[in-house]
Amino acid sequence: MTPPKRVKAAGTYYTVEYVERIEADDGGELAGDCLGSAQRIRVSSTQGTDRQKSTLLHETIHAIADELNYDWPEGLVLQAERVFWLMARDNPGLIRYIRSK
Ligand SMILES: [Zn+2]
Repeated sequence: MTPPKRVKAAGTYYTVEYVERIEADDGGELAGDCLGSAQRIRVSSTQGTDRQKSTLLHETIHAIADELNYDWPEGLVLQAERVFWLMARDNPGLIRYIRSK
């Protein structure tokens, strides 16, 4: 499946870019980042497919939390990423049910 080029975060669309390298402030490399002021998410394309998916989930959680003015620390975003990953992967029927009209 083609990775999404945008996600919706609490009503605001964020563009998603898949790039080879995302440099951290300290010179290290990041799996992804979220720039709320530009409505932009970047995901490192050098990761495996599941890591890219999980990174996009993580950065989307950051975007939604930012849009809702939640001041979530990184640890909480990491926990939410794990919870939503397991929920979505293990419960496709639940996701379909939530999305149904
Ligand atoms: Zn994060």
